[in-house]
Amino acid sequence: MTLLPEKLLTGYRNFMAHRYANETMRYKQLADQGQTPETLVVACCDSRSAPEIIFDTAPGEIFVVRNVANLVPPYAPDGEYHATSAALEFAVQSLKVKNIVVLGHGRCGGIKAALDTESQPLSPGDFIGKWMSLVGPAAEAVSANALMTPFERQTALERISIRYSLNNLRSFPCIDILEKKGRLSLHGAWFDISTGELWIMNPETGDFLRPDPEEVGAATLE
Ligand SMILES: [Zn+2]
Repeated sequence: MTLLPEKLLTGYRNFMAHRYANETMRYKQLADQGQTPETLVVACCDSRSAPEIIFDTAPGEIFVVRNVANLVPPYAPDGEYHATSAALEFAVQSLKVKNIVVLGHGRCGGIKAALDTESQPLSPGDFIGKWMSLVGPAAEAVSANALMTPFERQTALERISIRYSLNNLRSFPCIDILEKKGRLSLHGAWFDISTGELWIMNPETGDFLRPDPEEVGAATLE
């Protein structure tokens, strides 16, 4: 009987031998004192876009919620099950994070599905179809643009959905209030899996800009 896939067991052994061995004190401190991450990242479930890897973070540094296509739904206190909203609430109200980053990525399968209007549901429940209908109007508008190539349409919707999620974050009263008080800042970023480039959203224009590599280097040195 296989209790865990062998690949995971091997990885765990490596983790204990290296990372945990090197950072034992940090883990013990985090266990004793609790976590105090300053940043919440909303990322996609995609196996290629793990924020802990992209931002090279240590344990305890970022609080992460992942869902299909890194979407934030609108504030809807309707008594239903809202996993992403629960994570947002905990990060903002209890952990009091200072930053929220919506991290999108290239070649997103969820976004591709939203653009493929002829795709059949994966199951009778069609959870993905329902979830991606959050960006349905934007997907329809982008799909209808015959001047764009399929790749351009996909990248456009990946970035539009980040702006959409940022707007929805502001529909949560606690986030809106804290942002207006200057105690919480919201950011958008888009990761290009094929090149490793991180495009960062200009909050004033909504445009995604590829930062100057030297500027990124300078920021790291601060
Ligand atoms: Zn994705």
